[in-house]
Amino acid sequence: MSKTLDWDWANLGFAYVKTDYRYISIWENGQWDDGNLVTDNTVTISEASTALHYGQQCFEGLKAYRTKDGSIQLFRPDENAKRMMKSCERILMPTVPVEKFVDACMQVVKANEQYVPPYGFGATLYLRPFMIGIGDTIGVKPAPKFLFGVFCMPVGAYFKGGLTPVNFTIADMDRAAPYGTGAAKVGGNYAGSLMPHERAAEKGYADCIYLDPMTHTKIEEVGAANFFGITKDKVFVTPKSPSILPSITKYSLMYLAEHYLKLKVEERDCPIDKIDEFTEAGACGTAAVITPIGGIDYKDSLHVFYSETEVGPVTTELYNTLTGIQFGDVEAPEGWIYTVK
Ligand SMILES: *Cc1c(COP(=O)(O)O)cnc(C)c1O
Repeated sequence: MSKTLDWDWANLGFAYVKTDYRYISIWENGQWDDGNLVTDNTVTISEASTALHYGQQCFEGLKAYRTKDGSIQLFRPDENAKRMMKSCERILMPTVPVEKFVDACMQVVKANEQYVPPYGFGATLYLRPFMIGIGDTIGVKPAPKFLFGVFCMPVGAYFKGGLTPVNFTIADMDRAAPYGTGAAKVGGNYAGSLMPHERAAEKGYADCIYLDPMTHTKIEEVGAANFFGITKDKVFVTPKSPSILPSITKYSLMYLAEHYLKLKVEERDCPIDKIDEFTEAGACGTAAVITPIGGIDYKDSLHVFYSETEVGPVTTELYNTLTGIQFGDVEAPEGWIYTVK
């Protein structure tokens, strides 16, 4: 069993913590350098970097989990690596090969091992890989140089004291354009989401739900998480759209719903005026894990799914199965777990 710091693990939130080491690798003249761990948590770049002016940057988010026997594991890091490659391609940045990405994550977890929360608190070590265009480029074109970094911080369980449903409202703005960058994990999608999020929070909602940017008639996604609903006939349904960010948690839940819970699974349109087809609903993502949706405020009335205070049985079973796999208590499908050695 590896050592951990003496910390108030039960009350950790989601806030930046400067851990001991982070990984940095630089791309120049057509290739990546070997990359290495550094202690400095600041980055000095040219004032003319494309990341600063034209949003040429992308990021990822994944977690390291401490299991009951004290070992540490990553959940599907290869999927984050592949998604980051797609984000990079979309905005003309060089890609980081899957092996280099996973190795960087492993190095960062290993070097900051004492920050991986102990088993039993629902807390994890959150990893933030990112890439930025750097170098002297004031013209609107791809940067001549790129920085790929991975840093980490311990984060608390999303729900202290158990799963609780929260309410959402429908955004009256879009996070992505119909043929834009909605499916890429780029910072540009986030700047425009700050205002609708703040407005939803001011009205007492956890976040807002975005409708499809083309017609504003179908549920697209939930802030920084994907949406799913469970029908009366126990079908797991999740929206299909080219402007949704493909959530690894969502695709994992689709697999678990089908193979572990034996439910039917559908990826298809979810019209907002037909939300009463769902008896349960949730938001899913690495940070949110599964957030049960109590109700959605649409056209000035709150549509409640299962209950505003209790979590439905299918959502509960999905949550227990997913987190059971992530913390090593439930057998994972082949290839989902990477043990940190
Ligand atoms: C990262 C992200 C998600 C969740 O994806 P996971 O791979 O499940 O963490 C959902 N929506 C948006 C907009 C995101 O950026």
